[in-house]
Amino acid sequence: MTQYDVIVIGGSASGLQACLTFGRAYFNVLCIDSGYPCNRYAKESHNLLTHDGSSPGQILAKAKEQLEKYPTIQLVEGTVTNVCKDVSVEAVKYSFRVEIDSPEDGSSSSFVAARVLFASGLNDNIGRIPIENIDKFWGNSIIHCPFCHGAEFRKGKTGIYYTNASHLRFMLPTLYNWSHDLTVICPDDVYGSLEVDLLFAMQQKSIALHKGSVVKVETRSSEDGRLSRAILDDGTAIELDVLYLVPPSTINNKEIITKLGVELDELGLIKVSPQQKTNVEGVFACGDNTTRMRGLAFVIGQGMVAAASICHEILRERWTA
Ligand SMILES: Cc1cc2nc3c(=O)[nH]c(=O)nc-3n(C[C@H](O)[C@H](O)[C@H](O)COP(=O)(O)OP(=O)(O)OC[C@H]3O[C@@H](n4cnc5c(N)ncnc54)[C@H](O)[C@@H]3O)c2cc1C
Repeated sequence: MTQYDVIVIGGSASGLQACLTFGRAYFNVLCIDSGYPCNRYAKESHNLLTHDGSSPGQILAKAKEQLEKYPTIQLVEGTVTNVCKDVSVEAVKYSFRVEIDSPEDGSSSSFVAARVLFASGLNDNIGRIPIENIDKFWGNSIIHCPFCHGAEFRKGKTGIYYTNASHLRFMLPTLYNWSHDLTVICPDDVYGSLEVDLLFAMQQKSIALHKGSVVKVETRSSEDGRLSRAILDDGTAIELDVLYLVPPSTINNKEIITKLGVELDELGLIKVSPQQKTNVEGVFACGDNTTRMRGLAFVIGQGMVAAASICHEILRERWTA
């Protein structure tokens, strides 16, 4: 059986950058991807040098094309169903067995590697948000990050719907940069915990405030497809060009990851060192599953750091072997 140097779980922005770094160091790497990057809903990606305005699919296609010239990198479609420490390989310091289901016929296979890198991202659980039609707008005019998509809605009618008062306090001054035409919508409990100074600042800046929950979002025309209004639980309709919210994201593969003994932080993200190492020797992680700073440039950087750290570790072992 092929013993890979590394198995990368997740072949999107962070995982593919790791593969590029590995490929240029002639490491034997298997990268498995199930094809569901979190940004697949967005028509365009922004704020990534040389790719501002490209679609997520175009960015991944270009990355895969550039990886073709590195023969030690193998990209496969499939879903990792289990990862465990492998005791059968004694020659190397650590060894992991990774089980994969193929998308073609559902058949299972398993592979062994000296290191594993979880670049397997988050699930934003959009289906769990109780807003009718949200899936039609998510990633395009219902968004989470002004640095990614805010410029497309500059000075637009902007709704802010956060289910956490401290998040609202943190983000309001930031979002005010992109538009002064702001409407804050607060569920009852958030509304009740708004502090006086924030309420005063909102009043001073003519920021509209509504108590209630968004239950439905609508478009003006199905051809245009852009958000035009949000409907609250009391029937109030608010005209909007864009709505900001924070999805209830959770890391993918939580069970596999925690069963290995990998620690998560208080937000449920994988705890990593500055070298992208987890607390379990031989297990690394990079990308959205490790950070609140979700952005392509950042997770690509993490992929490079993770791969370089793994290369250093393995090369040091080879040096002294
Ligand atoms: C809607 C939306 C729009 C965004 N727009 C922008 C933008 O414009 N600019 C910007 O800088 N950032 C943007 N972001 C953030 C950016 O997309 C993420 O930071 C980035 O995609 C994270 O990369 P990643 O590789 O960590 O995870 P992902 O891109 O989510 O990829 C994880 C990969 O792992 C795979 N995977 C998961 N589990 C398994 C398994 N068990 N087996 C095999 N494969 C598995 C998935 O199929 C997926 O392909 C956006 C995010 C969202 C949600």
